[in-house]
Amino acid sequence: MLNETIAIHAGYDKHAGEKTMAVPIYQSTAYAFDNAEHAANLFCLKELGNIYTRLMNPTTSVLENRFAALEGAAGAIATSSGSAAIFYAIANLAEAGDNIVSARNLYGGTLNLFSHTFKRFGITVRYFDPENPSEIEGLIDDKTKAIFFESLSNPAIEMVDFEAITAIAKKHGVITICDNTVATPILFKPLQNGIDVSVCSASKYISGQGLSLGGLLADRVGLNDFIVGNPRYAHFNEPDESYHGLIYTSLPFPAFTLRARLSLLRDIGASASPFNSWQLVQGLETLSYRIKAHSANALEVAKFLEAHPKVKNVKYPGLKSHKHHHLAQKYLSGGLASGLVSFEAESFEAAKNIIDTVKIFTPVVNIGDSKSLVTHPASTTHSQLSTEELKVAGISERLVRLSIGLEEPSDLIEDLKNALGD
Ligand SMILES: *Cc1c(COP(=O)(O)O)cnc(C)c1O
Repeated sequence: MLNETIAIHAGYDKHAGEKTMAVPIYQSTAYAFDNAEHAANLFCLKELGNIYTRLMNPTTSVLENRFAALEGAAGAIATSSGSAAIFYAIANLAEAGDNIVSARNLYGGTLNLFSHTFKRFGITVRYFDPENPSEIEGLIDDKTKAIFFESLSNPAIEMVDFEAITAIAKKHGVITICDNTVATPILFKPLQNGIDVSVCSASKYISGQGLSLGGLLADRVGLNDFIVGNPRYAHFNEPDESYHGLIYTSLPFPAFTLRARLSLLRDIGASASPFNSWQLVQGLETLSYRIKAHSANALEVAKFLEAHPKVKNVKYPGLKSHKHHHLAQKYLSGGLASGLVSFEAESFEAAKNIIDTVKIFTPVVNIGDSKSLVTHPASTTHSQLSTEELKVAGISERLVRLSIGLEEPSDLIEDLKNALGD
C-alpha cells in the first residue's frame, strides 16, 4: 500500500467495537480489569491490554500504529509534544556520564535541551558540522549513545548526507536518531534510509492546521538485532530492576519503543491526550495531499524571492541554486522540499519591517499550519541562544523564516511584494 491509502486506513479496525467509520475518542483515564489475575497478567506482560492512559490509550494506539505503518517502522509511541519525543529518544539511550553526537543546525528548543538541560543531567552533546559528517568519527567514544540530526533542519532548511552518517554509525555500533518534523514520512522515510529511530513533532504538518501538540517516536525493523549484545546499550540487554527484572531485548517486541513506553512514559508521563491523538489521526489522513501542496506553494514563493533584488540567500532545497538541491533530489520523494523557506532581508530593520507589514502571513512561532506564518528566529525561537550559538546554528539577525501555507501562492507573493516595498 502507498502513503495515501495507509494514512487513511492503517491502525484502525472499523469492524471492531461499535463499527464507527470515524476513529472514536476514548476519553478515559483507566480501564477495567476482568479480575485480579487479568490485572496481574497485564502488569507482567503475559497478556497485552490497556492499563492506564499514561501508558496507552486506544485512540492514541490508532495514531501510533498508523504512524508506524507510514514510517515502515517496527513500533511507535506518541507523546504530548515533539520536545517530549526528543527527550525520550535520548533518555532511552543515555545516562549521566554519557554523550551524544549531534548536528549543529537544530531547532532552537532542541538546542536548549541538548546544551543546557541534558548538561545538568550529566549528558553532554558534541556537535558536528553537518556539511562535514566525517567529523563524527573523531567525536565518538565508548560513552557515545546516539547520533542526532534533522532531515530538513528548522529554521536553516538544510539537509545532511544520510548515507555518510549511517555508515559511520554502523561501523561504531551507535544508534542514529533523525528529527523528521519538517519532511514528514510522506517526503522522507528515515527508517527506510538506514536510520534507526525517527522522531517528530506532530504539532506541525501532521496536525496540519495548528490545532494540537503531539510528538511521535518510531524504531526501525531489525533494530533489536543491532542492540542485542551491543555493549553501548547494556541497559537493554540486562534485567531492568524497575520492571521485575525484564530484559527488553528478550521479548518479541521492538525493544526501543517498548522501553520508551514501559520506562519513560511510565515514569515521566508526557503522554498524548486522547483528544489530541484523535485530531492528529485526522491530520494524518490528509497529510500526503497537504505536504505536496505546501511544497509546490513554497517552491513558487522561493523562486519569487530568489529573483527579488532586496532578498539575499534564499534557503529552499527545492531551488536548483540551493547547496543541498542534490540531496533533496536524492532523498526527498519527488524532490519535494516541504513548506519552509528562509531568506535574509537587507538588514535587521528590513527583516522587522517585513514582519510588521505582511497581511496574509501572520507572525507566529509555529510551522506546518494551513495558514502562512512568518518568524524572525533571532528575536523569538532562537532568542535564548548566545550570539555564538546563533552563528553555529546558522541564524543571522536578518534571517526571516516563512512557513508557507495552503493559500493561493500568487496571493502570498503579492503580500511579500508589498512587504518588501515594491
Ligand atoms: C517544533 C519542533 C520541535 C518541537 O516540537 P513541539 O511539538 O513544539 O514540542 C522539534 N523539532 C522540530 C524540527 C520542530 O520544528
